[in-house]
Amino acid sequence: MALTYAVHGEGTPALETLAKGLCAALERRGYRPSAQDDVPNLVLNLTSRETPRPYRRKAQATFVLSILEIEEIPPEPVQAMYPYLVRTLSNMLLAYIPGKEAHFFTLDLGHYSEPEGEGFYHRLVERIHPMASARLVIKNRFEPDLEPELWEGDELTRELSRAGKILDSWNLLPAPFPIDKILPPEDFRHVQRLYGIGGLSYGNLSVRKDEKRFWMSASGVDKANLRVIGRDILLVKDYDEKENCIVLSVPPHIEPRRVSVDAIEHWMIYQEHPEVGAIIHVHAWMDGVPATQAHYPCGSYELAKSVAELVRKAPDPARAVVGLKNHGLTITGRSLSDILERIEGKLIRQVPMT
Ligand SMILES: [Zn+2]
Repeated sequence: MALTYAVHGEGTPALETLAKGLCAALERRGYRPSAQDDVPNLVLNLTSRETPRPYRRKAQATFVLSILEIEEIPPEPVQAMYPYLVRTLSNMLLAYIPGKEAHFFTLDLGHYSEPEGEGFYHRLVERIHPMASARLVIKNRFEPDLEPELWEGDELTRELSRAGKILDSWNLLPAPFPIDKILPPEDFRHVQRLYGIGGLSYGNLSVRKDEKRFWMSASGVDKANLRVIGRDILLVKDYDEKENCIVLSVPPHIEPRRVSVDAIEHWMIYQEHPEVGAIIHVHAWMDGVPATQAHYPCGSYELAKSVAELVRKAPDPARAVVGLKNHGLTITGRSLSDILERIEGKLIRQVPMT
């Protein structure tokens, strides 16, 4: 089935021209205009800095690319433009400088640009398509069946908290972006529902419990303060392929939080490699690491698959360091301390953007 797109809102003449070029390039890529009343896969939301109007999607499956015009790129591009990404309730933002270039901003703090010229629209679509066509695996199903002896955690969850504190002391976990402060409450709820996140924070960690299950940090929590089981740390027990959701065992008395969106990636790695005992994901980089080719969204099946593929190709999959293009690193180890020892002092805080 062809992917569909729709254009929403109105833009400056330059934006209208850009949108036209994009639509033509999308159609060459196999996209079709969505029929009236249909839920489109991709929405081009034309907006402006002065009045950044959101597009309120009716289904999580709709990928919203908001497009606005700017005169020049601000000195701190991500800090300056990220609020527009959030306020327009978008998955991705395109800031266009007419006659010069297009800058992309993504939810995971990615920022890269394409200059105008030969194949401009084609290059833009090659940036948009992997994001817009990815399948998110961010549904959670909570089952209140956690063994009582695990309600307060175990040695592994205590190790997980210690590792979170160490990563924090290395200054590797940027403060979560305060989306609840930027957005009115109803829009914040929309973002939570549709992005499937409890808040934005970056990085996550997990440790294997047994053959099938693993403990993992929750979404949007402070990794320096992982304490309560079911709220800060969750036990992933399964992936329900039919329902496309992550299944979690929680204590019966708790209002659970969502697990990190990267649970599907960790799940694939643990299932395939029994010798992997722990996984850490950070938004940082290391010299000379193999990296994925396309930039997929966090929590997508495609990202998980491409990372799992690189782990498989590593000389020792149980001790792999894999780059996620324009995003960060996923590192496997026999244990959390095995990972921490290997990466200490080697991480570069700035992820290269290409
Ligand atoms: Zn990430």
